[in-house]
Amino acid sequence: MSKENSILDIAIIGCGPAGLSAALNAKARKKESIIFGNEVCSPKLQKAPHLHNYLGVVDIDGKEFQKRAERQVTDAGIKILRNKVDNIFQKENGFEIVIKDQTYTSKTVILATGVAQGHVLPGEEDLVGKGVSYCGTCDAPLFSNKTVAIIAEEKEGIQEAELLSDICKKVYYLKEHEGEVSLADNVEVIKEKPKAILGNNKVTHLQLINNRLECDGIFIVRDTVPASHLVQGLETEGSAIKVNRDMSTNIKGLYAAGDITGWPYQLGKAVGEGQIAALNAIDYISS
Ligand SMILES: Cc1cc2nc3c(=O)[nH]c(=O)nc-3n(C[C@H](O)[C@H](O)[C@H](O)COP(=O)(O)OP(=O)(O)OC[C@H]3O[C@@H](n4cnc5c(N)ncnc54)[C@H](O)[C@@H]3O)c2cc1C
Repeated sequence: MSKENSILDIAIIGCGPAGLSAALNAKARKKESIIFGNEVCSPKLQKAPHLHNYLGVVDIDGKEFQKRAERQVTDAGIKILRNKVDNIFQKENGFEIVIKDQTYTSKTVILATGVAQGHVLPGEEDLVGKGVSYCGTCDAPLFSNKTVAIIAEEKEGIQEAELLSDICKKVYYLKEHEGEVSLADNVEVIKEKPKAILGNNKVTHLQLINNRLECDGIFIVRDTVPASHLVQGLETEGSAIKVNRDMSTNIKGLYAAGDITGWPYQLGKAVGEGQIAALNAIDYISS
């Protein structure tokens, strides 16, 4: 795994309106930040045929709004790294952000990943860290010579399969994405849909619609990961991250903004919270 040497002031996770707003405010205060985002920023806004309820903005669709916001951010010299963050670890004086085979270090983090799309499998939440993983690079060594299943909702699952097939005895690959795959001999491609993850305090099986696979670990490759799975110990209220008035969470130096902090799911709230989170992260760094 390679490591970026410079230490960021703020790592912003998510390139929707909340993340972009946080980044602009950090830049205005001359702080070093990077936005980590997915290939498409704010798939939600891309789907809005007409933007309503955002002050001063009329006659525009969500796609155009997001395009303008991204241009404003990149024109300001802020970097958007189009890679999904797999894990965030707390360190003595900050955080380590893991993306594929790279890590970044930052003094603070702002989570602005929106509301996780897609369903979570029964058993998944309870078995995170007990056999369920979202990051092959981070957890593959734990499954040396064992049997694992990869639930590949995205084609990035192929890279996970390449890595895990070198380490594991057997890999099941549940191909849920488009396109062909050509994988090592110890990888069996399964066409059946996953139904539940089974195990009592430790993964033992993946239940499919009609069959059951015995396995020690399950790697899930999705576009979005619930934020509480990205960072261990993050306090939630239902599906939302619990925040204080200054957008701080229960973890020192870690802030959250936008849809991820709960209702109302609106642009105005996302942009405002991004600003508050950035300004308070900056205060935290200088305190
Ligand atoms: C169809 C539709 C129409 C809407 N119309 C309006 C409207 O008219 N007016 C209004 O005010 N609001 C509207 N909304 C709501 C608005 O889109 C949201 O409130 C707003 O986009 C929230 O911004 P956000 O930055 O919090 O999250 P998002 O816009 O969801 O952005 C989060 C970003 O984080 C990325 N991400 C997630 N996980 C990771 C990870 N692990 N690593 C890196 N990146 C990650 C996601 O891919 C995404 O790009 C609409 C929503 C929808 C679905």
